[in-house]
Amino acid sequence: KRQQLELLSSVEAQTRDGVKLRLAGNISSVKELDLALKYGAEGVGLFRTEFLYMDRQSFPTEEEQYEVYKLVAEKVGEHPVVIRTLDIGGDKHLDYFQLPEEQNPFLGYRAIRISLDRKDMFQTQMTAILRASVHGNIKMMFPMISSVEEVREAKAVLEEVKKDLDRRGIPYNRNLQIGIMIEVPAAVMIADFLAEEVDFFSIGTNDLVQYALAVDRMNEQIAHMYHPYHPAVLRMIRMTVEAAKAAGIGISVCGELAGDERSLPLWLELGVSDLSMSPQALLKVKHRTLNTAASEARRIAKLCFRSRAAEESERQLTQFLDKAI
Ligand code: PEP
Ligand code: MG
Repeated sequence: KRQQLELLSSVEAQTRDGVKLRLAGNISSVKELDLALKYGAEGVGLFRTEFLYMDRQSFPTEEEQYEVYKLVAEKVGEHPVVIRTLDIGGDKHLDYFQLPEEQNPFLGYRAIRISLDRKDMFQTQMTAILRASVHGNIKMMFPMISSVEEVREAKAVLEEVKKDLDRRGIPYNRNLQIGIMIEVPAAVMIADFLAEEVDFFSIGTNDLVQYALAVDRMNEQIAHMYHPYHPAVLRMIRMTVEAAKAAGIGISVCGELAGDERSLPLWLELGVSDLSMSPQALLKVKHRTLNTAASEARRIAKLCFRSRAAEESERQLTQFLDKAI
């Protein structure tokens, strides 16, 4: 089965009735990138840069980061590479960076909040990303955005970094696209305002589900309540897509839901064609895409968007999948 799937690596992802998708990889290392490319990923929709900071004794230097970002951009070639700035805190920690003890780490000192608090670190990372941007199709993305001010502050830091590079005479892509993760319910509710500030959104369903449903994504005891097909989540996804489309900015999905092939009808109905997922999910989602008629899938998705219960949507999508196989 796996070998058969691997034959699809170089096949274009499109539905039976010709709707094209771009399937990209979520990676956190060069090794994972190689796997994603092997499975035919059209770019990297989420580069989790945390790994660069982990398993070491101190922060990675500008040069160390630059080398990795450059390598990834070069390997990917013309397709986009979305580099997400550091997303530590929550469940991810660094040995050499003392984070405070927190009652609720996922609601605490995390991601963009740390970056905006520790501008030195943030500037170093941005500098490395900008320098690497001449070697490929790099975009920059900020995690865990919950307000317009955060985006503006991050962009102000970026402007300083650009000026500094200009002073040093170092080239970079002056049109580097900037995006944000939509993974906090507040960001969904102000998605129209946020869309005025950036070039693209990427929906992070892993955190969006946890924050929308108040269900810790790490807690086994309530794992059965962690439901990506909950109507509240589906509505949030739809609102986000609609805001992006109304503003004419890019929209993609990079949470685990994108790698669940049952979710495909939702994206076809919403008109989302950019999906990013773990390398292991790429071929099964592509296989699913090739065997799906978008017109049929949209009918099922409409039922899901009207459904009152997560179980009902999940059942519809699972049935639709089983029927196709
Ligand atoms: C997400 O939250 O959906 C996401 C893609 O980011 P991470 O899993 O790294 O938090
Ligand atoms: Mg997240």
